[in-house]
Amino acid sequence: MKNIPLHRFTTSLDGFRKIPETIKNFRWHSSAKVVQSVDIDKIRNIGILAHIDAGKTTTTERMLYYSGLIQQMGEVHHGNTVTDYLAQERERGITITSAAITFYWKKNQFNLIDTPGHIDFTMEVEKTLNVLDGAIVVLDGSAGVEAQTLTVWRQADRNEIPRIIYVNKMDRVDSDILMCCDTIDKKLETTSLLLQLPVLENGKLSGIIDVLTMELLNYGSAKDKRVNKIPLTEKQHCKYWNDASLARSQLIEKLTDFDDELANQVISCESLDCISTPDLIKSLKSVTRNQVATPVLLGSSYKNIGVQSLMDAVILYLPSPHKRYEQFSAFEDNLCARAFKVIHDKQRGPLVFFRIYNGSLKKGQKLYSIKQDSSEQMGKLYIAYADDFEEVEEVTNGNIAVVSGLKKIVSGDLVTNSSSSSQKAKNNIVKKYKGSDVETLLGLNVTIPEPVFFCSIEPPSLSVQSALEQALFELQREDPSLRVNHDPETGQTVLAGMGELHLDIIRDKILRDYKIEVDLGPLQIAYREAPVKEVTDTLTVDTKIGNSKQFVNIKLSLVPSFGKEHGGDILKLDRSPEYASNISNIFPKHLVAIRQGAVVGMAHGPKINCQVVNSQVVLHYIEVGRGTSETMIAATVTQLVSSMIKKAGTDILEPIMDLEILTPDEYLSPVLADLSRRRATIRDVGMRKNTKVVLTEAPLSELMGYSTVLRTVSSGTASFSMEFNSYKKMSADLEIIAIQNVRGF
Ligand code: GDP
Repeated sequence: MKNIPLHRFTTSLDGFRKIPETIKNFRWHSSAKVVQSVDIDKIRNIGILAHIDAGKTTTTERMLYYSGLIQQMGEVHHGNTVTDYLAQERERGITITSAAITFYWKKNQFNLIDTPGHIDFTMEVEKTLNVLDGAIVVLDGSAGVEAQTLTVWRQADRNEIPRIIYVNKMDRVDSDILMCCDTIDKKLETTSLLLQLPVLENGKLSGIIDVLTMELLNYGSAKDKRVNKIPLTEKQHCKYWNDASLARSQLIEKLTDFDDELANQVISCESLDCISTPDLIKSLKSVTRNQVATPVLLGSSYKNIGVQSLMDAVILYLPSPHKRYEQFSAFEDNLCARAFKVIHDKQRGPLVFFRIYNGSLKKGQKLYSIKQDSSEQMGKLYIAYADDFEEVEEVTNGNIAVVSGLKKIVSGDLVTNSSSSSQKAKNNIVKKYKGSDVETLLGLNVTIPEPVFFCSIEPPSLSVQSALEQALFELQREDPSLRVNHDPETGQTVLAGMGELHLDIIRDKILRDYKIEVDLGPLQIAYREAPVKEVTDTLTVDTKIGNSKQFVNIKLSLVPSFGKEHGGDILKLDRSPEYASNISNIFPKHLVAIRQGAVVGMAHGPKINCQVVNSQVVLHYIEVGRGTSETMIAATVTQLVSSMIKKAGTDILEPIMDLEILTPDEYLSPVLADLSRRRATIRDVGMRKNTKVVLTEAPLSELMGYSTVLRTVSSGTASFSMEFNSYKKMSADLEIIAIQNVRGF
């Protein structure tokens, strides 16, 4: 077998610049922060996705250290890592908000977008995925694929993000790379392509074998950033050589399943030996970009083993921004950028993070939001280094820009130079992608997950009411999965969010950043109501307001869609022959009012005042008198929809959660016994090494405080994660209890 070493990726420090003495010891500053101009092919916009605790923060920190961006390494348990810069995150040791960090590795520019690991913040993950060109998925080497890995993997699938997997914590004695590959194949339903093998000395991880180059990689101490590469020989390293040869053959065989060119090469030379390292790199690059199989690397970030090789792999296998989001080239010479994050900085005010898909963003320019159909003047332009920003004149295509001074733009907005550049691009898209939906191609219809919990929020005194409103406005702009509503009946402000921790963190932020000591009411479950049967009805309003006559005559149906949440449009137009001519003559502004009226009518069900779902309003007919206001049309629709919902009668639906519980065998019985008292349905009980894995679904109302109970019944040895599954109808007697809980009597 021929071994061609990776000369292109020697681990000398040539990628680093000289660090001025004055800032050498100040950990946020280094000369690597000087903006370097790199070709778009050398940019990697990547995210790190992981189950909580897999080691994402530690791995990020090591990358920043090796790149020279920081001079010392922070540790998660010391609470001083760069990416976890929010105070709450430091205390809780988890990553919540995505921070973007730019650094350089071997003359390539990495824009690392930090993604949250906790399930309560999946909305954040979704927003971040929108702007990535590739991702590293971090696994815990002793756990393999865990519940949240699966969630983020599915999200990455939806966004078609090329991925490589990094199996961390290989220093742990219970780590097992083959078990991890097995869980990758089975659970993630991709083909794992193992590129490295762990080297153990006296049971401890001491290095890594590179299967491609047939080299032994030894990593020095934390301070020593170099990797010592020793070519394996059959004579000197018999066992390593044999293991690596076998792994290399297996890798080539797997790759030939996906890569015809490589398969032909193997057939024509009748041996696997003629496949060189550059051949393998080319093949791996192509299968990764086409997302048909996934390279697997390994290491121990904590012990400083494997991270440099992981960074090399990012350059080798993950794509540059070039060509990835081709539809945005429809903007021609104009800017096209997506806002994916808003933060509120004490000195600089709100800062919006943009990913540039086309053109460039220049200091002082106007930004036009396509979704909002409005322009705003930007303030300053920056590049982000975690909690530190460098002012620049221009940020070019493929990069991440940070803009101050914007008041209206929110996460998810797509911006360009002006309304006419937007229109021109839309026309180009219609021409180029015939039959495709422009909104979908531009990613303008991202769905926000349903909040499952809500609680009231009270200011300590009326004097801070308006400060609290401003705080909530800003927080909502930062995080669209937080909903803030005003309940007209109780006069209270109500927060709705994705989980207990989510709302807790919002309270902490209000206290810390805005110095308002708010009280949160008891956490309540966000139930839904669904109509039981179809109802058709008409309503005529004929009145006078001031001197103007108001007349609306409308016929609607309320149609339940059993079994699933109504997605998409709440309003359907009846274009049957009987009504088609009336429907096609409705003014667009009247349609907007009808839709608004329907949304308001569905906001509160008759039983427990919660949102009405699983149904659609069908408009058969409307007659509007001359001079009638849109407000009157909307109010008429609301009144009719509310009365139809009452007539139909509703069922209460409760949120059902998916749970994955990991427990040692000896505690399985008490865990299952406890679940049986929680109306849980056990879907599977499997085995992962010595741990039982219970997959189950249970109503959220039965899971309040579950973590404490699980800890008690398993003497602290079991753990779990959960994710929203769906809304389901409750039985009649449980419905009575739910109504009592909500009404308080
Ligand atoms: P995150 O939640 O994915 O960001 O994970 P962290 O980086 O916060 O790590 C979670 C815990 O695992 C911390 O206590 C880390 O010190 C520890 N950890 C991280 N990497 C490794 C590793 O390679 N080996 C071991 N044994 N522990 C690690």
